[in-house]
Amino acid sequence: MNRRDLLRAAAVASAAVPAGAITNATRLTVDVVRLNLRHTWTTVMSSSTYRDVISVAYMRDGLTGRGEGAPIVRYKEDAESGILALDRQRPLIITADPWEFEKLMAQLFRGAPNAYAALSAMDIALMDWIGQKLNVPLYRYFGLDPLATPVTTFSIGIDDPAKTRAKVREAAFFPVLKIKVGLDSDEATIAAVRGVTNKPLRVDANEGWTDREVALRKIQWLATQGVEFVEQPMPADRLDDMRWIHERSPLPLIADESVRRPSDIPKLLGAFDGVNVKLDKCGGIMEAYREIQIARALGLKTMLGCMISSSCTVTAAAHLSPLVDYADLDGNLLIANDPWRGVTVDPNGKLILPEGPGLGLLRG
Ligand code: MG
Repeated sequence: MNRRDLLRAAAVASAAVPAGAITNATRLTVDVVRLNLRHTWTTVMSSSTYRDVISVAYMRDGLTGRGEGAPIVRYKEDAESGILALDRQRPLIITADPWEFEKLMAQLFRGAPNAYAALSAMDIALMDWIGQKLNVPLYRYFGLDPLATPVTTFSIGIDDPAKTRAKVREAAFFPVLKIKVGLDSDEATIAAVRGVTNKPLRVDANEGWTDREVALRKIQWLATQGVEFVEQPMPADRLDDMRWIHERSPLPLIADESVRRPSDIPKLLGAFDGVNVKLDKCGGIMEAYREIQIARALGLKTMLGCMISSSCTVTAAAHLSPLVDYADLDGNLLIANDPWRGVTVDPNGKLILPEGPGLGLLRG
């Protein structure tokens, strides 16, 4: 093709772009934001002083929808690959009709499989935009009572007994604590917590126990320590072992790493009593909503959790929290440089939703 043919072909291609796509001038920015942790955060999986999250701004009609997703090593995701995945979908995103967000997100799930944190950031930004455009907070969009929010736990990462005691004292504000375990130090960790407080505990082993008999003994001991339930005792795919434990467990068992997509939930019956739903893990607000509804329909308990995130993602999850039995929405409280203000916690640990449209975020 010579230069003149090339120019003619380019002119035809540009005339073929629908006029609406240009006049609506949707803009999308996708960036990495580094969130600094107040304390080094240690679980069975990793130890870190910061987390890089994917931040999305979806701009159209003078409104900006904000979204964020936290890529997790456990799920083989990182911020750079998530951003690349969204960048490859940019032509689709900026030409799509945001009111058809269901169709757009289905296309993105097909086009960027396994980029769940990036998909979640995009979904949150779209839903924030939709809420702003309708001028309603997202809880109202979903028909939820903002006064029906649960209390949130505050999470205590794995540390030595002295630091664990200090963190528990710092968390005096919260009526229920979530304690990370899953190492040989579990008994010492719980003893350190119990040295400071008698408040109810929820325990998360993050797949850390690999022998079912050891796991059951730990759960039986935890039942004597004022623990309400245990999250993900064993590796995600060990559902046969979980059924064995479930038959014998004195405590309810909640699945976290064992549930990724809505379709994972039915096979948890008989192995777990509930599911921990996280936006970054499943790919956004709408996918989390589906998981919660499926779990409820199957008679499972529901919990909304989060990764280490800013108030953007935590507020997005909190808008769905009137639907769930338990909340562990403290990721924003673990960081030192939150760019946003949104959901807050009252002196009894109860989540207080912002009243602005969409997510209701303000600059931090
Ligand atoms: Mg967990």
